[in-house]
Amino acid sequence: MTDELLGRHKAVLPDWLALYYADPLEITHGEGRHVWDAAGTKYLDFFGGILTTMTAHALPEVTKAVSEQAGRIIHSSTLYLNRPMVELAERIAQMSGIPDARVFFTTSGTEANDTALLLATTYRRSNQILAMRNSYHGRSFSAVGITGNKGWSPTSLSPLQTLYVHGGVRTRGPYADLGDADFIAACVADLEDLLGHVRPPAALIAEPIQGVGGFTSPPDGLYAAFREVLQRHGVLWIADEVQTGWGRTGDNFWGWQAHGQNGPPDILTFAKGIGNGMSIGGVVARSEVMNCLDSNSISTFGGTQITMAAGLANLNYLVEHDLQGNARRVGGLLIERLRAITAQVPEVKEVRGRGLMIGVELVKPGTEEANPDAAAAVLEAARREGLLIGKGGGHNTSALRIAPPLSLTVAEAEEGADALERALRSIR
Ligand code: PMP
Repeated sequence: MTDELLGRHKAVLPDWLALYYADPLEITHGEGRHVWDAAGTKYLDFFGGILTTMTAHALPEVTKAVSEQAGRIIHSSTLYLNRPMVELAERIAQMSGIPDARVFFTTSGTEANDTALLLATTYRRSNQILAMRNSYHGRSFSAVGITGNKGWSPTSLSPLQTLYVHGGVRTRGPYADLGDADFIAACVADLEDLLGHVRPPAALIAEPIQGVGGFTSPPDGLYAAFREVLQRHGVLWIADEVQTGWGRTGDNFWGWQAHGQNGPPDILTFAKGIGNGMSIGGVVARSEVMNCLDSNSISTFGGTQITMAAGLANLNYLVEHDLQGNARRVGGLLIERLRAITAQVPEVKEVRGRGLMIGVELVKPGTEEANPDAAAAVLEAARREGLLIGKGGGHNTSALRIAPPLSLTVAEAEEGADALERALRSIR
């Protein structure tokens, strides 16, 4: 059945629509932290949390809110008042930490970042953008133009002029051997130097922890140090929280908060899991920045009542069940466990992460060289063990990515770690 569907998929969909697995999965249903494929095989989902399902698969609270709203009204959110949109915007504005915040809803992370670029370039009257090496910000023409990860950037043409900054990746690169403080100092000096050589950029956009780039681990405080420099030059800071938001990193609700108290970003973008599967993206900015546009600008499907109902139900669940605390506790245990089981595995260079956003970097044994073949093999082997994980990284996708729904239990964390241990053993 999957073969038949795969043939049709290949015949009608673009070649660049990447699928995981030599024998791609057709997922047909899910519950909690588990999903089932078309053949009825059950998998523990250690990746869907970062894609769509932040909280849990088929979460009854969200399903109920969506089905009730579907039976009531789904209409344009842009021309008429929309109570769920106002309510969710109020909650997010308050939670963002941005003073005098305004929120605009989109349908994706790409559209959110596009909107952030529209705001920043208009506000600053500059089409120069600073972005991080190895970053990913989406698939539109402008988002591709600020994506430093060239494996995800299919054109070098761009309406923007982009300059790439060091710091998002710690594992490799010119400053890899430095300690935290020296690493930050080197990256800040690099940024200062760059700013001395270019016309004033509009903004720096950065993921507090790079997602597609392999769940990287810049030292805490890096973006606060950058912020101080940027503020001196009048450059805005856009935090792309598409993967790091909503408590996933455990210690903090937003990824930027790990970087100290140099204030919230000027613009924050979010997407992915907040709708627990319904398409919600958005931008938060202080009103002076948000309101710099002097014409109408609407998104027909951004903020529809059905997505907002899902977002509200999901956010309520997240807060009432302290899923940020759960990410901290269960994620902390999982990281510890993964470090223990990989300590003697020569292909594993490091287990890095925060909360339920965990990266495992694979190298060729005895070297620092990225090992994409091992990452691909572990992905397949984990699937055979009933575990779905992701992979990512720069030019070579040599990191395993682990990002389960935030409601993961301790027993499920242990079950997943055991499966990953068997998968790692099986590729040796
Ligand atoms: N920003 C980041 C950090 C992302 O990880 C992604 C998606 N992988 C996007 C933006 C784009 O989001 P979407 O796929 O919803 O357009």
